[in-house]
Amino acid sequence: MASSAQQLHAPASAGSPRAGKRGPQSVAATCAAGPGGATRILAGVRGLLLDLDGVMYDADEPVAGAVETFHYIRERALPYLFVTNATSRPRSALVAKLAGMGVETDADHILTPAVAAATWLRTQPEGPVALFVRPAARVAFEGLARLPGHAESGARYVVLGDLGDGWTYPVLNRAFRLLDEDAGVRLVALGMTRYWQADDGVSLDVAPFVRALEHATDRQAIVLGKPSPDFFAAALDCLGLEAQHVTMVGDDVRTDVRAAQACGLRGVLVRTGKFRAADLDSGVSPDGVLDSIADLPRWLA
Ligand SMILES: [Mg+2]
Repeated sequence: MASSAQQLHAPASAGSPRAGKRGPQSVAATCAAGPGGATRILAGVRGLLLDLDGVMYDADEPVAGAVETFHYIRERALPYLFVTNATSRPRSALVAKLAGMGVETDADHILTPAVAAATWLRTQPEGPVALFVRPAARVAFEGLARLPGHAESGARYVVLGDLGDGWTYPVLNRAFRLLDEDAGVRLVALGMTRYWQADDGVSLDVAPFVRALEHATDRQAIVLGKPSPDFFAAALDCLGLEAQHVTMVGDDVRTDVRAAQACGLRGVLVRTGKFRAADLDSGVSPDGVLDSIADLPRWLA
């Protein structure tokens, strides 16, 4: 924990959400802001960016209290946007998954790297796009020129998402060959998340594979997803708010918290999902650290 951190106990609030797996004694927030830290989280908050994986749910299980927090946000008409680096499913599937947990939202309230990348590609010179994303994520790229199946030449853009078990040496090498063919082929990364918390343990996300291709081809990827400033700018556009009025809530101290702070937002870290105690000694000073998103309403009330 950062040495400047201050333990602040959440104010009691009748009917406020409570993380079911935690006792009332553990209901506390840590603010790394010193005296007045609580107000650093709260003052002037007019909108929220909420991560999904590790914040609203872990795999298929909602985080205790997350649904109640969402209802609190909706009841107060607080502008919100889910910002996720998930590239394994389309927004419609995320909407359905959230609905199954009791979070009624729509695709317009979810920003994904695939949507941001497809929007960006439509502004660029047309050319074949080679997609290294899961089949379910391809819907966002409909209407764009696509490179046929297993072609190893002819791409103008190589788009990398989270392929999970789909990553094999031949698959990664195909991406390398497409990029190596011409220095003008653009490498597009759907976020730069390093790892995520899967059911069976922490698992590699997209960034390590992007880094491998950057290294092999001596070029830099265009990142469309967290922690890219362009992605946060797109999210702020969706909310129609300025950065200083928006707080990002995430479980990734770098991709969520540090990246948001670098863009002028406030960044709140939750101790769920991929959170590790060492994150508090990572050199990043979150504007707030909450046991979980269940505690958020107490700091917004
Ligand atoms: Mg997350």
